[in-house]
Amino acid sequence: RAKQKSRGTISLYQPEMDQQIRDRRVLHQDLSMAIRNGELSLAFQPQAIAGHSVAESEIIGFEALARWQHPVRGQVSPAEFIPIAEESGLIVEMGEWILRQVCREAASWPKPLQVAVNLSPAQFMHGDVVGLVHSILLETGLAPGRLELEITEGVLIGDFDRGLALLRRLKALGVRISMDDFGSGYSSLSYLQAFPFDKIKIDRAFVINLGRNPQSAAIVRAVIDLGHGLEMSIIAEGVETLDQLTFLAKEGCDGVQGYLLGKPLPIGQYAGLVGRAETMELALKTG
Ligand code: C2E
Ligand code: MG
Ligand code: MG
Ligand code: MG
Repeated sequence: RAKQKSRGTISLYQPEMDQQIRDRRVLHQDLSMAIRNGELSLAFQPQAIAGHSVAESEIIGFEALARWQHPVRGQVSPAEFIPIAEESGLIVEMGEWILRQVCREAASWPKPLQVAVNLSPAQFMHGDVVGLVHSILLETGLAPGRLELEITEGVLIGDFDRGLALLRRLKALGVRISMDDFGSGYSSLSYLQAFPFDKIKIDRAFVINLGRNPQSAAIVRAVIDLGHGLEMSIIAEGVETLDQLTFLAKEGCDGVQGYLLGKPLPIGQYAGLVGRAETMELALKTG
């Protein structure tokens, strides 16, 4: 639409850009009230051991994903609001809220499943992330070994020494660290060598193309070998088809996550998996 209007000129892009900036400004104002107004929530997406069928892929944990129900716009994607929260510094308060909710929630599950939460660069590099994780673990009583922190490689690009020191201190608390979206950014193998990750999450982009192009299969295979060589476990994101699952299981990928196993949903929808049996029957009947 924008292209048609502005064919051959540059200045006509301007109104659209202004609109985008205005949009962001308004979203930012709204976002600053979202926590207090109870508009933020969490969705949980299952993570399973890669098996040769869905039934054989045992669910061992969840990734928590932030959701924002805007009063007028409806659901706003975290891909849109997390960057706004980052730029404005709101992410520090929001990230703390998210981490506390996630740990509280997981601590309440009858089954001691794993839970993963995303940390954004600003949260990692500016706030006292170690102190925060430590105090929230104490406050909620969640066993540190059940918590995994997902970071993207972008987090570590700025200050290598500080990044390494933070990761070591976090690991000393007993939590695990995974590298999210591996292969999607400036992934450098030296990062894998230098930083003590427990897990590599292969980016969805490679999983989508499994079976479509041989290069993706080669890359996925290589990342699995590489990760195992470094004593890291490997989970593939965005697994949507049985073919993808069986390929990954056959290649020795440890974990899988994706719509095939389950979409990100309010935890009530997974009550049975976390050990709240009565509620699950209800969810099955109504869902
Ligand atoms: P991510 O951490 O890589 O999360 C995976 C994204 O892939 C999620 O999108 C999830 O809904 C989506 N996904 C999972 N399985 C499939 C699949 O089979 N097919 C497809 N097409 N998509 C799948 P979502 O929830 O929109 O989150 C987007 C990104 O926003 C996340 O990417 C993460 O970087 C960020 N994010 C989400 N929640 C938080 C949070 O609480 N804190 C921070 N800092 N970032 C968050
Ligand atoms: Mg993630
Ligand atoms: Mg990811
Ligand atoms: Mg992603």
